[in-house]
Amino acid sequence: MSYQDDQSEDYLFKVVLIGDSAVGKSNLLSRYARNEFNSNSKATIGVEFQTQSMEIDGKEVKAQIWDTAGQERFRAVTSAYYRGAVGALIVYDISRRGTFENVSRWLDELKVHSDSSVVVMLVGNKSDLAHIREVSVEEATALAEKNTMSFMETSALESVNVVDAFQTVLKEIHKIVSKKAL
Ligand code: GDP
Ligand code: MG
Repeated sequence: MSYQDDQSEDYLFKVVLIGDSAVGKSNLLSRYARNEFNSNSKATIGVEFQTQSMEIDGKEVKAQIWDTAGQERFRAVTSAYYRGAVGALIVYDISRRGTFENVSRWLDELKVHSDSSVVVMLVGNKSDLAHIREVSVEEATALAEKNTMSFMETSALESVNVVDAFQTVLKEIHKIVSKKAL
């Protein structure tokens, strides 16, 4: 396990947030990185990323998490956005069916632009709106299984599963990368 003995080796993983406009990508990131929620957030302007650290197996693992430039129409997200990404969270809004129906298109985009080993998580955000839900947990689970993604419902508003979602992706990436390093 020479890799684990190498104290100097820290990691920086690029993770991208994708999914339709207004599903809550920017709020998931601000909740994770700063524990903030913004109820009247405008469409994100400019590509932004946040760097967030966590410890896995005694190593500092840093994630550079990218948020779209409010360019969430298909093909408007450029290849530079995806370049070098080792993880992705594809976000939809459980109260807007159309955002779920577009998940497969986002997945196709991701596959075009990134390595096949990219770790993908499907995120059904706005779980606090379960009373007006348009997407069931069962069908999201089925879609995730079909495409070897993990799946979680989150609420950026109520701070449910947000840290968990990001950390699950990071742990999975770390597992793959450390296997490669051995
Ligand atoms: P983005 O376009 O995907 O980055 O979405 P935003 O983060 O800008 O959020 C779009 C809208 O959805 C904003 O009005 C947010 O306040 C709202 N929103 C984001 N996350 C949640 C959530 O978990 N629950 C609810 N009820 N609203 C949310
Ligand atoms: Mg945004």
